[in-house]
Amino acid sequence: LTACDDGTDPGDNSDSGSATTSNGGESTGSGGIGVILPDTKSSQRWGTDDPKYLKAAFEAGKVPYTIENAEGDKEQFKRLADKMLDEGAKVLIIANLDSVSGKAVIDDAHSRSVPVIDYDRLTLNGGADYYVSFDNERVGELQAQELVNCLNAKNVNTPIVAELNGSPTDNNATLFKNGYDRVLQTHFDDATFMKGPDQFVQDWDNDEGREIFAQMLKQYPKIGGVLAANDGLGNAAIEVLREKKMNGDVPVTGQDATVQGLQNILIGDQCMTVYKNVKLEADAAAKLAINLYKNVKSPVDDKLKDPESGAYVPFVKLEPEAITKANVKTVVDGGYVTAKVLCTAK
Ligand code: BGC
Repeated sequence: LTACDDGTDPGDNSDSGSATTSNGGESTGSGGIGVILPDTKSSQRWGTDDPKYLKAAFEAGKVPYTIENAEGDKEQFKRLADKMLDEGAKVLIIANLDSVSGKAVIDDAHSRSVPVIDYDRLTLNGGADYYVSFDNERVGELQAQELVNCLNAKNVNTPIVAELNGSPTDNNATLFKNGYDRVLQTHFDDATFMKGPDQFVQDWDNDEGREIFAQMLKQYPKIGGVLAANDGLGNAAIEVLREKKMNGDVPVTGQDATVQGLQNILIGDQCMTVYKNVKLEADAAAKLAINLYKNVKSPVDDKLKDPESGAYVPFVKLEPEAITKANVKTVVDGGYVTAKVLCTAK
């Protein structure tokens, strides 16, 4: 699939008897596994993919569960955790909104002997029992490597590279940046590229990303490439570039293989995205949680040193994959998105 010319295979959205909770989440009752996701705005995944695959895994494991979303609100995050713990949750899975509020939840859970799995985002100094995520520095490396390829293909002399980083509150944003800066720095050092503006975007907010990028472009009208940390921020930059009729000429990166990101790739406005197979991540977290629920501790191969506390967290580390126009099909074949949705969604 390099263009939208076939429409096949509508997705399977079969449902099976769980209730919707006050927060719009899913629940089969209290006393099981509680999941709190961060928001539904910073990436498509949190509102659709993660809950879908977690739910499927819990149902396959026949364990009670509750999945909620804090909608970017740290107090709500805490309230949801308290409610789950009050109702007798045996395990929590959290993707934090920042490390301080995440740690407060982990501390509460631990004070009630409830284990916690850090999902996707490490809670710094948090002391979670497990961490399930991707190799996030590798994500950043893939972004930079593909940006280099796209820039080389454009044949522009010493292009200026702008960076639109993720949220300063998200440890992953730091890891992505470590990865892409390592690659880009070699090109700044040998003067094939020029370092341009470089800013974090609070809460991964796409509107703020758009404002920031518009300012960047005002200051550096000749930006030649954009390292945007995910598809939402990439699209924010692309929208600004479209207004200036520069879309397609300025390669932009992304992450998450969202429908919008993949569409931007297919029309040539986005250089690449990173496919993180959320099903594998959800399955891994659910497996650990189900074992904990049954009072079994799972062995985990890797461990990660928390850079703040120095403590080691057992780490399930998954591999990300770069997606360009040439291999969009990988994401479709993996069942993450259907060709039909990709070619018809607006
Ligand atoms: C996740 C990304 C996501 C971003 C914004 C990060 O922690 O790893 O997949 O795009 O948060 O939600």
